[in-house]
This record gives sequence, structure tokens and C-alpha cells, in this order.
Amino acid sequence: MSDLLLVGGRVIDPASGYDQTADVLLRDGRVAAIGTAMAGENAEKIDVSGKVVCPGLIDLHVHFREPGQTKKEDILSGAQCAARGGFTTVVCMPNTAPSIDNAGTVALIQERARAAAVRVEITGALTKGIAGEELAPIGSLAKAGVVALTDDGKCIQNNELMRRACEYALMFGLPIMDHCQDYGLVTDGVMHEGYYSAVLGLRGWPSAGEEMIVARNILLAEQTGTHIHCQHLSSAGSVRLLREAKSRGVPISGEGCAHHFTLSDACLAGSEEFWKADGAEWANLYFGDRPLPTWPAYHTHFKMNPPLRSAADVAAIRDGIADGTLEIISSDHAPHTETEKDVEFDYAPFGIVGLEVELALSLMNFYHNGRLTLPQLLAKLTCNPAKLLRFSDGRGELKVGSVADVTVFDPDVEWTSRREETASKSRNNPFHDWVMKGKTSLTIVGGKVVWRA
Ligand SMILES: [Zn+2]
Repeated sequence: MSDLLLVGGRVIDPASGYDQTADVLLRDGRVAAIGTAMAGENAEKIDVSGKVVCPGLIDLHVHFREPGQTKKEDILSGAQCAARGGFTTVVCMPNTAPSIDNAGTVALIQERARAAAVRVEITGALTKGIAGEELAPIGSLAKAGVVALTDDGKCIQNNELMRRACEYALMFGLPIMDHCQDYGLVTDGVMHEGYYSAVLGLRGWPSAGEEMIVARNILLAEQTGTHIHCQHLSSAGSVRLLREAKSRGVPISGEGCAHHFTLSDACLAGSEEFWKADGAEWANLYFGDRPLPTWPAYHTHFKMNPPLRSAADVAAIRDGIADGTLEIISSDHAPHTETEKDVEFDYAPFGIVGLEVELALSLMNFYHNGRLTLPQLLAKLTCNPAKLLRFSDGRGELKVGSVADVTVFDPDVEWTSRREETASKSRNNPFHDWVMKGKTSLTIVGGKVVWRA
């Protein structure tokens, strides 16, 4: 493997606070040097001046659908989406078919992941078949190498069982990640319960259905000392609960997804309503004279779980990310085929793809409008997820000796997200034809270039 010298970029390491124009030398899969005057090094030189060089991005919430649903995506195509989006490590959720609730399935995915463009980490199910009834063999999952435990897609309803899951997770040094959904409150809701669900005549998924479980998780994290990470939070109440609990030192954290901090439930009423009601500021900021994307009401590319919520919730998720209540940004990349999504709203599966637009949407929501500095924003995509997952090989950091996973991006370049331009097997992306600002130029895993724009 040849050595690489990234010349003249703005090198940002959110973990240490390093932020300077410098060269980065990658050798033998590690960061060998960061500094200036390395022009004499015997290495392949890549000019990255005007670009940001940062630790390889980490997305701790993706669905690559393997085993069992490879018509939607597989580990190789999913990893290719990650590479295009600037992600060097992704974490797969266990709601595959069969689910990842035993060491054998973990081994199968590890085997497939060896050929993937990026590092693919695996979570184990908390309960057998993610059915929420009986604990999975947590000890053998830990031994097989899972990085966290979650029933994502489902949520343990029995609080006593959740308590035991927490105690086992603690014993094996694993964090729990939880999809927060109270089934009794949510029942068969398909969109946020509010003004638009009433207007559109769709069954509502109330915010309290999420907040109830966030509150439960806070109590159990406090009771057991286990770190519980609340996945894809969508409501203002969840942010408020988390903020209060964190101020008391409860081992709890949360993540925000790009769609939840960009889109609102007005999208379900069609593009005209969204751009008029909640998207006007966005249109002004980023589209200028260019045409706004259009879509009809009831479009299933806007159906995900938890659902898009009200403008006030969207603002609260943004505030939570900006003030550090939510330390992590993820995609919840959830591919579904066109035939599955091209049905009446009620019957479509929940979920959208997101790995290829996540960085741009994060930059647009937080950096280009001045709410966060680049190091502050990048922490949520690098060192913060690395810390939650307890990576010990220096992933999430960019310093001498750390693993040579590096992302180079141009924060200012404008591009348009096109339906046909994706590595995914699926096309369920609500951001088709959106103007984006910020794009990955180079994705490097273990010192090897896996994506180049
Ligand atoms: Zn989920």
C-alpha cells in the first residue's frame, strides 16, 4: 500500500481542538504525521487545499438489510453509499431477517463486511428475534464483537425486561441504543399526530409515544447505571427530558437525524404546502432563483419512524443539537424498494435512505447559518459516536498514531441531489432535486482511498 500525503487542507480534529492548515501523512494504515514541510516525503501527494480534512465520519445508525432483504440494500451497496457520503465507519442495526440475535449471524455479517468499502460494525439484538419477550444471549453477542445492543425498529415494552437488559449490558460493557416508541400510545399511527394528520385524515403517531419511553429510559439509566442512547429523537419533549436528565449526570444520550432537523410534517401535504409553511427560510437560503423540488401530498418518501413532526419540534431538535443535548447525528439509512414504497401511504414501510446527503444537510442546518463551528459540528459525526461505542483504535480522532480513516470535504461546493446518482439499491430519498451545500471529496479507510469525487 502506498503512503498518502494530503497537502494543504484545513485539518480539524474535534477531539483535541486542533484546527490548522497542515499536511497529513498516512502510512501503514495509521496517521504518521501532521504538520508542515513534508513535501519531501516519499508518498502519493493529493492537493486538498481549500478543503476540510477530518477524522473519518461515523454513522452509528444504518440498515444494510443483510441478511434476508438484499433487494433493498446489501452490505456492499450500503457501504458504497457510506463511502460516497464521507463515512468510514457505519453501525448496522439488527432488524434483518433473521435478526442479529446470535453469534452466528454476527459472524456472517463480519464475513460479508470484509469486502465492504468502509468499516461495518454490528449491533446485537436485546431480545430474541427483537420480539421484546426474552433476552438475547447478550454474553455471546458481546464475545462475537457487537458494539452495542438495540432492538431498533422495535422497542421493549416491558419495563422489567428492559431493566434486566440494562443490567446485562452493563456487565458486558456495552451501551444500549433504544428506538423509543410506546406501542399503546402509537398503535397504528403513520404520521405525526397534529394539524396535518387531521387535515390529511391519516392516523396519528403522537409525540408522547416517544417521550414516554425516553422518560422510562432516563429512569432505568439512573437506576442501573447503564448508558442508554436514545435513537433518532424527533420531538421537543424528548429534547427537554434529555436536557434535564443530562444536567443531573444521568448516563443517557440522544441522536438527531438529518430528516428530523430539516423536514416537517407539512411535507406530507405536498411540496407547495411545505415550501410555503415551514420550508420558506430554507428555500431563501439555499435555492435562490433555482426551481424548488416538487412532490405530491401523501408521498411515501416522507414516511419514516419516528415520523416528521411539527415545525416547533424541528426547531427543538435543531436547538438540542446546537446546545449539545443531542451529541450525535445519524442517518437512520433505511432503504426500501420502489414497489414497496409505491403504495397507499398507510401500507408503505417506514424509512428513507440518507447516507449520501447527511453531511451536506448537517452543514446547511448548523454550519452555513453560523449555529455551530465546523469542529463543533464534526464532533457529532466523529469523536462523539466513537466515544459512545468505546472505540479504542483512535477512530473518530485525527492525530498521530490513530487509524488512517480520514474524510476530506469541500464545505462550500453546491450540488444537486439526483435520483439516479446513488450507490444505493433503493431510491427512497426525500431530497431528490434538492440543492445541497458541502460535498465529500475523498474518503479514506485504513490509508486506502475508497471514494473520490
Ligand atoms: Zn428506529
